[in-house]
Amino acid sequence: MLSTPVFQIDTDTKTVISTSQDYGRYDSLLIAVGSRPFVPPFEGLHKNNVHVIRTLDDALDIRDAVKGAGREIVVGGGILGIELAAAMKEVGGEPIVVDNDDRLLPEQLDAQGSSVLAKQLENKGIQVLFGFEGKEITGEEDATGFVSKQGDQIVGDLVVIATGVRSNTIIAKNSGIKFNKAIEVDEHMQTSVEGIFAAGDCMEYNNQWHGIIPWATATARIAAQNMLDFGSAKFESITPSNQLKVAGIDLTSIGVIHPDSPDYEILVSVDTENGKYFKAVLKDDVLVGGISLGSRKIALKLRSLIMKGENISDIKQTLFEDV
Ligand SMILES: Cc1cc2nc3c(=O)[nH]c(=O)nc-3n(C[C@H](O)[C@H](O)[C@H](O)COP(=O)(O)OP(=O)(O)OC[C@H]3O[C@@H](n4cnc5c(N)ncnc54)[C@H](O)[C@@H]3O)c2cc1C
Repeated sequence: MLSTPVFQIDTDTKTVISTSQDYGRYDSLLIAVGSRPFVPPFEGLHKNNVHVIRTLDDALDIRDAVKGAGREIVVGGGILGIELAAAMKEVGGEPIVVDNDDRLLPEQLDAQGSSVLAKQLENKGIQVLFGFEGKEITGEEDATGFVSKQGDQIVGDLVVIATGVRSNTIIAKNSGIKFNKAIEVDEHMQTSVEGIFAAGDCMEYNNQWHGIIPWATATARIAAQNMLDFGSAKFESITPSNQLKVAGIDLTSIGVIHPDSPDYEILVSVDTENGKYFKAVLKDDVLVGGISLGSRKIALKLRSLIMKGENISDIKQTLFEDV
């Protein structure tokens, strides 16, 4: 049933209440309502040519708007923002990516990796501006630029906000189902209400949350198994892995990349000129995380070694050799 938002679940009568007049009865229920774009409270958000990106229609609208724009401002230097800027460049745009942080992709990269990536993007004509704390989208009816809290101004006639997502929790809120930042589930992906499960962007487990497809499919599988045969599957975690390809730049970031204790060993190789950056994080000579920028082969190697979880002391020194 398309175009039929559900807004509440009557957990006593086991009924799903939606905008249609058909109230759906269920024996077992999965909530998989995903997430929505998070938009910081900038002034001037209502102006023409200010967009977010979530759906195909959003993407098509933005593509049309790029055609008439002189310069595009992408707010947010995460995966979505960078991919978007690269796509804009491809269709003839002049994008600038602004971020309040001092680095790109804080979830996937460290400071050194970020500066290698920023340099590569700039070589491809995508400007990157760090430390820009956005305040106001300027212009009368149409957007004409973006001003920071410090008073710096960027001129641009298309603004796309890609500053992250928030889980959809309204159904949980309306139905007495426990939620925090996302809907809370146990290791069976069951919510605080028996017989109601959740999977994907809308749920969190044990303080873990990821807004990526591997998380959605892994949690959905566990939920499905338990909905058919309760207790048959338990969720543990996933090894978060992000693969990004922007204008020909391969970036893969897997597992632990920001280790927080001296028990980890870190190996790094940087070649800014050629846009290459590699990092390996080891614990007791086992690879537990890594970053590969600029080489698909190294990315595959790191991924395979992380999955195997074996002792790699004998190949540590040659880990970043692109063979
Ligand atoms: C532009 C973009 C690019 C992305 N690229 C990648 C990528 O390259 N790799 C990656 O791993 N991840 C990517 N992601 C993230 C990925 O799309 C999500 O993690 C994934 O779609 C989550 O799946 P989901 O089923 O939980 O939610 P969704 O795919 O968001 O599906 C939720 C569905 O629920 C519906 N819904 C919402 N509220 C209600 C309601 N009240 N009643 C009924 N229906 C409702 C929505 O309309 C939607 O159809 C990207 C996301 C975006 C926006």
